[in-house]
This record gives sequence, C-alpha cells and structure tokens, in this order.
Amino acid sequence: MTINFQLMDNFSPTNRTQLHRIPQRATYEVSKIYGILDEALVCHVGFIVDNAPIVLPTTYARIANQVYLHGAQASRMLKSLKEGIQISMTVTLLDGLVFARSAFHHSMNYRSVVILGQAVEVTDLSEKQAALEAIVNHMQAGRMEHTRAPNPKELRATMVLRLELNEVSAKVRTGPPVDDEEDLSLPYWAGVVPVRLQAEQLQPAPGLSQHAQSLGIIPFSSNER
Ligand SMILES: Cc1cc2nc3c(=O)[nH]c(=O)nc-3n(C[C@H](O)[C@H](O)[C@H](O)COP(=O)(O)OP(=O)(O)OC[C@H]3O[C@@H](n4cnc5c(N)ncnc54)[C@H](O)[C@@H]3O)c2cc1C
Repeated sequence: MTINFQLMDNFSPTNRTQLHRIPQRATYEVSKIYGILDEALVCHVGFIVDNAPIVLPTTYARIANQVYLHGAQASRMLKSLKEGIQISMTVTLLDGLVFARSAFHHSMNYRSVVILGQAVEVTDLSEKQAALEAIVNHMQAGRMEHTRAPNPKELRATMVLRLELNEVSAKVRTGPPVDDEEDLSLPYWAGVVPVRLQAEQLQPAPGLSQHAQSLGIIPFSSNER
C-alpha cells in the first residue's frame, strides 16, 4: 500500500503500530516523524536471518516519504533485506536523563520512531545517486557539494535500498520524573539532565593539503550537532 504522503498530516496507526504501553506518548504526525528522522543520524534495523533475529545499526537518509539505506553489495543485511523480508527500522533521539526519587521511576526523555515494512533495491541510477547524496548530506546539509561524487565503480559496489513510510509510529517522552506521592519528600535529587549530541573540535585527516585544511567544513548551525 502506498500512501499519498502529500495529502496526509498523520500516518494511520495499524494493528502493528498502535502503541499499547503509555499510548498518550504516541504520535503519528507526519511532520514530527520526519523531523525525528532528519535529526537522528543512526538507525537500527531489525530482521530475521537464518531463523534468528538480529538488529544492526546503520546510517540512512529520508527523501520525501522514503528512507534509504546503503552499503556494500556483500552486506548480509542488505542482501537479506532486498529479498523483501519484513523489517523494523528504529531511530532514537535521547533528550534527557530522568532522575527520580525512587529507582523505579528513573526514565529517559526521548523521541523515537519505529518503521515497519519491506525494503526494495533501488536500481534506477538517478534515484540511487539522489539517495547517496541524501545520505552524505544527512551528516551535514550541503556536504555533497564539498566532496567527490561516487564514480561508476563505487556506484556499482554500493547497494541502495528504499523503505516506504507507511506503517510508522513515534513515541515521545518529555518532562520531569513521575514519582509516587509518598516519595516526594525523600532526600534525593530528582529532575532531568538534558543531553544532546554535540560536535567537538575538528580533527583534520592526515595528509590534508594546506588549501583543503583552510577550507574546513561548512559550520554546523547552532541547532545542529
Ligand atoms: C531511550 C529510550 C529508553 C527506553 N527505556 C525503556 C525501558 O527501560 N523499559 C521499557 O519497558 N521501555 C523503555 N522504552 C520504551 C520502549 O521503546 C517501548 O515503547 C516500551 O517498552 C513498550 O513496549 P511494548 O512492546 O509494550 O510496546 P507497544 O506499545 O505494545 O508497541 C506497539 C507498537 O507501538 C510502537 N512503539 C512502541 N514503542 C515505540 C517507541 N519507543 N517508539 C516508536 N514507536 C513505538 C511500535 O510501532 C510498536 O510495534 C524506552 C524508549 C526509549 C526511546
């Protein structure tokens, strides 16, 4: 089933994507889900191979209502996924560590997305190039203009898979700890430690020419890593 994403504000929950546990934290809002996917850098892909489940971390990028995965043609993960098996892809942004008065109520603030579906191999060259460009630009907007594009040999060596966003859910926790009434006067610190991914000082690659070194990279904007 392909949904015309331009016409909808929310993904429709299905039997598989309906949150049961703390359902008030669910959102199916397309713009929120796209925002989480665009901000996070790493996804985890869960699938069954040789009759056993495995979950592997990898990079990805979103274009419109699709996410793209890429890797070596020899990747067991990609070779398995392109057979059309059911997969689950998940992305998590950690926003805070939630310290409660009780050990039981410690938690985390987060925004996470779960995508269910089947991936297909991208064979169209222009879509493949666009996907690879999006994956590079996902590390930093505009980076593709400051790097050498893949050559035909590199393109042949790379497999790209597309996963349509149809069965999608997001879960978002915000706010302070939720302690039990009888614990509120206990002498323990409680509250939230906000956390975020932060870029540190650049570490130039060995052998970088003086010219390249002087170029640096495009500065990250303040709300980016
Ligand atoms: C950083 C982080 C830390 C967490 N720590 C814990 C923990 O310590 N213990 C714990 O039990 N849970 C934790 N969770 C929540 C966990 O992801 C599950 O939501 C929860 O365990 C309920 O699982 P369930 O199988 O009962 O979900 P159900 O509500 O039955 O799941 C049904 C469907 O809801 C959707 N869904 C469920 N969870 C998520 C999610 N997180 N994001 C997007 N869609 C979702 C999926 O489509 C899923 O198929 C954490 C989540 C994050 C992001």
